[in-house]
Amino acid sequence: MSTSLIAMGVAAFMVINLVVGLAALSLLFGTFETLFGKPKLTFLRSSQNGNIFAFGLKWNSSKEPASLDTIRLRLFNPFGSPTQVEVSKPFASKNSSFGAEVDMGPGLIELLGAKGFDQATIQVEICSSKDGVVFQFDMKGTKFKKLVFDANETVAEFVAKNNLDVKKKSAPPIDIPTRSFIADTVPGRGPQLKIATNPSFAGDFSSAPAAGGAAAAGPAVANFGIAKVWIEPGCIVCNACEDIYKDVFEVLADTCIIRPNAPLDDGLRIQEAAEACPVEVIKFTKAG
Ligand code: SF4
Repeated sequence: MSTSLIAMGVAAFMVINLVVGLAALSLLFGTFETLFGKPKLTFLRSSQNGNIFAFGLKWNSSKEPASLDTIRLRLFNPFGSPTQVEVSKPFASKNSSFGAEVDMGPGLIELLGAKGFDQATIQVEICSSKDGVVFQFDMKGTKFKKLVFDANETVAEFVAKNNLDVKKKSAPPIDIPTRSFIADTVPGRGPQLKIATNPSFAGDFSSAPAAGGAAAAGPAVANFGIAKVWIEPGCIVCNACEDIYKDVFEVLADTCIIRPNAPLDDGLRIQEAAEACPVEVIKFTKAG
């Protein structure tokens, strides 16, 4: 066998391997997207009597932002009667995964009572009247009925299980910044940072060394411990925090980080850094 034939064989083998590998990868990621990337509708048990439709929707709102505010149930029943029913109701708009109970009115009874319902197709649409986003779920009537009548998880349980409590999430984590370290205008010099490292104010900080290393005289400032300190997105790498407390803050090329095992016992100094941050991205919670 000539050398060129062997080389062609090896090349063909490598190309086939490459194609098979790429196909396997795309299948893997496609399956992953199908299983985990799509909005997921869950049927829930209503806690009230009446024509209530209880459901939960989970979707990736950062990937697909939407303000969802309408649910629509559609019945396509070509071999039964009526052949088509549509019930649409608004609900308080939701910007991220949620659970809700919506009163669908008598239309829900008409839809469920349609002759030939089991063989009909049911379309559940959860949509946004503002953004034009529609999440659509299709199923046979039999499946829809089973999901509605077998649902045993309530909206409250769904919300708790998936940690969707918006009120809990939006509670302010901290109570800063009131910029106590920004001093009033100093005549001729404009506003200044009232920090221990600023010689103009060293006398106000007896618990921290003044510029030059000597402990400053003046009223004691009560220190406190820190439970957690972190940097939110938006750092402009100005170095102010690291200049104030380099044991805690480390400024990298494009952001700032909290050093591993940073000391958290000098809350006053961390607060000083937070208040000195021009874009207010340093956040912390006090211990205790
Ligand atoms: S002070 Fe704020 S903006 Fe400046 S480096 Fe630190 S975190 Fe970033």
